[in-house]
Amino acid sequence: MTRRKVFGGNWKMNHGLSETENFLQEFINTKISSDCDVVLFPPFTGLHLMQKYLKASGISYGAQNFHCEEKGAYTGEVSLAMLKELGCTWVLTGHSERREIFKESDELVAKKTRMALDHGFTPMVCIGETLDERKAGKTKEKLNHQVRAALFGMSETDVLKLTFAYEPIWAIGTGVNASQSDAQEGVKLVRDTLANLYGQSIANQISICYGGSVKPNNIEGYMSQADIDGGLVGGASLKADDFSTLVNNGVK
Ligand code: PEP
Repeated sequence: MTRRKVFGGNWKMNHGLSETENFLQEFINTKISSDCDVVLFPPFTGLHLMQKYLKASGISYGAQNFHCEEKGAYTGEVSLAMLKELGCTWVLTGHSERREIFKESDELVAKKTRMALDHGFTPMVCIGETLDERKAGKTKEKLNHQVRAALFGMSETDVLKLTFAYEPIWAIGTGVNASQSDAQEGVKLVRDTLANLYGQSIANQISICYGGSVKPNNIEGYMSQADIDGGLVGGASLKADDFSTLVNNGVK
């Protein structure tokens, strides 16, 4: 079964307008494999530059966050309709920084994932365990729970439109990356949960990335694992040459 390879660049709260423009000018002039989905997730303020530079480039972009209501009195929030106007086609849901820092619950992650699908976006649903949960032997339980919660009420057709990212929280932004076998084990746990819910044949069609200190020089090792279909990348997506090298190494 060949699944689509996916490489997401999550810039978090990094890069203002000039840095974004510099990145894009370099990135679009770099040869990047078309044998995969490449998706940039800049801060909201960079999205209009994505629209300007990435049109017809084959590179996608999306939002790191959005609000769970259509419109109204939600000071400081951004809706999916607004993101659509900016040409976004992807969104992140359930990123651990949203769950841990902004206290997004499993229910909210499910609601936002559902909404994103209803608006025609491709959600990349992030899940992962903390170091304490791993040490306590609770990784399987946590991943199983987060996947099931995010998929609450979803049909087979819905779930086939999702991409997942297994991101052990202890490996995000720490430079401490999971071993290839730990990453494979986590991604496989996600696939097994999908198989239990929707059957193996559906589970085998869904792309699942690994995220957590992925770099140009370690992506190949992750991609050599049977269930890993790509990477969700923070730090190493901030420089155009690093990220393009990472993507090209990942599809080799
Ligand atoms: C992330 O932001 O999802 C991430 C994995 O970050 P980093 O690659 O910097 O660990």
